[in-house]
Amino acid sequence: MYLVYRCDCGRAVYSKEKVATKKCVCGKNLKVKERRVISKIENIEQASDMVRKLQEEEYGKAFFTTADKIPNKR
Ligand SMILES: [Zn+2]
Repeated sequence: MYLVYRCDCGRAVYSKEKVATKKCVCGKNLKVKERRVISKIENIEQASDMVRKLQEEEYGKAFFTTADKIPNKR
C-alpha cells in the first residue's frame, strides 16, 4: 500500500505505507505519520499516476515543460 500526501511546499509525493520519513525534492524531511494523507493506493503505478495528476492541478502543465518552452508574457 502506498500513501499519497503533500509536502509543505505543495508538491505531491508518495511513499510506501511503512516508510517513516520521506524526503521531498525541496529538501524537507516529511514525517509520514504527520501528513494528511490524500489517498491510499494499492500499487506503485497508480500512486505515481495520482501524484502526477496532483502536480498538474497545483502547477499547471508549465511545471513539466522546460523554461524555454514557456511563452513569454508581454
Ligand atoms: Zn517539499
